[in-house]
Amino acid sequence: MDIRIGQGYDVHALAEGLRLVLCGIEVEHTKGCVAHSDGDVAIHALCDALLGALALGDIGKLFPDSDAQYKGIDSTKLLSIVVDNVTERGYSISNIDLTIAMQRPKLRPHIDNMRERLAEVMHIDVDRVSVKATTTERLGFEGREEGVSATAVALLIKA
Ligand code: MG
Repeated sequence: MDIRIGQGYDVHALAEGLRLVLCGIEVEHTKGCVAHSDGDVAIHALCDALLGALALGDIGKLFPDSDAQYKGIDSTKLLSIVVDNVTERGYSISNIDLTIAMQRPKLRPHIDNMRERLAEVMHIDVDRVSVKATTTERLGFEGREEGVSATAVALLIKA
């Protein structure tokens, strides 16, 4: 059996007055991620995990931020393209596990919507999609509410 694992990590700065989009879900907050795209730090980490499993480089290689066509883009579109890369190579996604680290707001009320949205975009069952959130106990840039980080792992199986 051909099994592959990948991991991804991403960070975005937070700034007042921007939209906060995580796992394709808009979360009500006073701050949002500074980015060339919609700043969906969670999906960016997930894309890197999937690309990493296939040794295809990273999200910046596939979707350069110097490219105007990706300005403000909905990151679920980027995830769709990455998932196409997975299926074109004969793999299916066994499961993904994602952790978002930010101090505020509480993400728990949004977690199930996030899981459902990611499952929909990746065409897999929601029980294969784990989204977790943590604070950093007010430590570091996440704790100071200067930024958000996300880590993800993905397991692929050759069909
Ligand atoms: Mg990013």
